[in-house]
Amino acid sequence: MQLDPRDLVLDLASLRNGSNSGSFEIDMSGIDWGIEDAEPASPSGTLDLDVNYSEKSVIVRGRLSACFATSCARCLGRAVFEVTEDVFAAFSRDGGNTADGEMARLPRDGRSLRLLDAVKEAVILSVPGKPLCREDCRGLCPVCGENLNVSRCGHEGAAGAGCVR
Ligand SMILES: [Zn+2]
Ligand SMILES: [Zn+2]
Repeated sequence: MQLDPRDLVLDLASLRNGSNSGSFEIDMSGIDWGIEDAEPASPSGTLDLDVNYSEKSVIVRGRLSACFATSCARCLGRAVFEVTEDVFAAFSRDGGNTADGEMARLPRDGRSLRLLDAVKEAVILSVPGKPLCREDCRGLCPVCGENLNVSRCGHEGAAGAGCVR
């Protein structure tokens, strides 16, 4: 099984009928992720793929082992997270459905499949609901905006009261 690691394009001619599996090193910064609020935080990642190929359909399951960074919900600093969601994509020659959802149509004369969107989706689904730069992030001072992880501004008592004059 051959995959171009620069744009995550799978060469269909390299697949045999049935299960195909492979592990690919990805240069994370070489890919145009285009994900709002998240960017790669590790220089390289590993994409493990299991592709089930037949005349009629191509089912792709996989996992990207990599870290991304987004903004901390408390201090707006850098919050790193791991990709935890699986990659899934299903394509068929003539449309149809699988137990896992709708299948996209395979390009009729296509020799290759672009997996970037499916991998991107796994990254987006992995962005934590409340990302934190660290478990005990102190956040920003609601009075003066100071990053309380970095320094104390002396407003702590006021911040605790919740109604600052
Ligand atoms: Zn933080
Ligand atoms: Zn303050």
